[in-house]
Parts: sequence; structure tokens; C-alpha cells
Amino acid sequence: MIEDNHSFIFPKGEKLSSNWFTGDAFLTPLLARDRNNDFALGSVTFEPGARTNWHTHPRGQVLMVIEGKGWYQEKGKAAQAIKKGDVVNIPENLEHWHGASASDKMVHVAITNYKGEENVVWLQPVTEGEYEKVNNNQ
Ligand code: MN
Repeated sequence: MIEDNHSFIFPKGEKLSSNWFTGDAFLTPLLARDRNNDFALGSVTFEPGARTNWHTHPRGQVLMVIEGKGWYQEKGKAAQAIKKGDVVNIPENLEHWHGASASDKMVHVAITNYKGEENVVWLQPVTEGEYEKVNNNQ
């Protein structure tokens, strides 16, 4: 595993809540919303197998993958493989999840826009069955 000696761009940060994430996911906040920037900016590290719950963003989200390999899936569609260098533009109010693949970690920077005081609406976990189906169809 090359990544053991790899220097990552941003610190791994603090472990994220298992209420909204499955497996080991970590966040380093990079920039809070301010008077000019109506979004939160953060780096999220997903260890292999880790992923978000299903969720929506009231004004969308942009992901920039900066390390590894993972998945982005919109409800009712096939999952898309994502890897270092990919940019994902997620529309508003679209149910989706993102995370690592079963065998690789994945790190993305997330730009998450606000509507009022809200930038995410958390839904149900991605089940083991849903996740296995995605990983076995690659
Ligand atoms: Mn999202």
C-alpha cells in the first residue's frame, strides 16, 4: 500500500458521527460560511467501506476528489465510480450518497451551499446490501 507513506493535502480531521456516516469517515473543516462565501468548505476522508447516509443538499454541493477511489450514487441510478481528479456537481434536493470503495480510501473536498441555515438533509443509511451491490457491479 503506497498510501501509508503518502502525504495528504489536508489533515484527516475528526471522526464523523455514525448517525450520518457508515464506517470510518473524518472531516477537516477548511472554511466556514461567511459574508462573501455562502457555503461550507471541508475535506472528508473515507476509509475503505465508509460512506455517507443517503442525503440531499437544498442548494447543491460540489465534490473534488483529491485522493483514492470511491462512489457517487443518485437515487434510482447506477453508481458512478469517482477517483482522484474528478469533480462532481450535485444538484439541489437530489437524493444521493458518496463514499469510498470497498477496497480503497477516498478523500474529497466538499463545497456545500447553504439555503437559510441548512446545507444538508440527512436520510437513511446506505445498507450493506446496497453498498455490496455497487461494489460487486464494478
Ligand atoms: Mn452530498
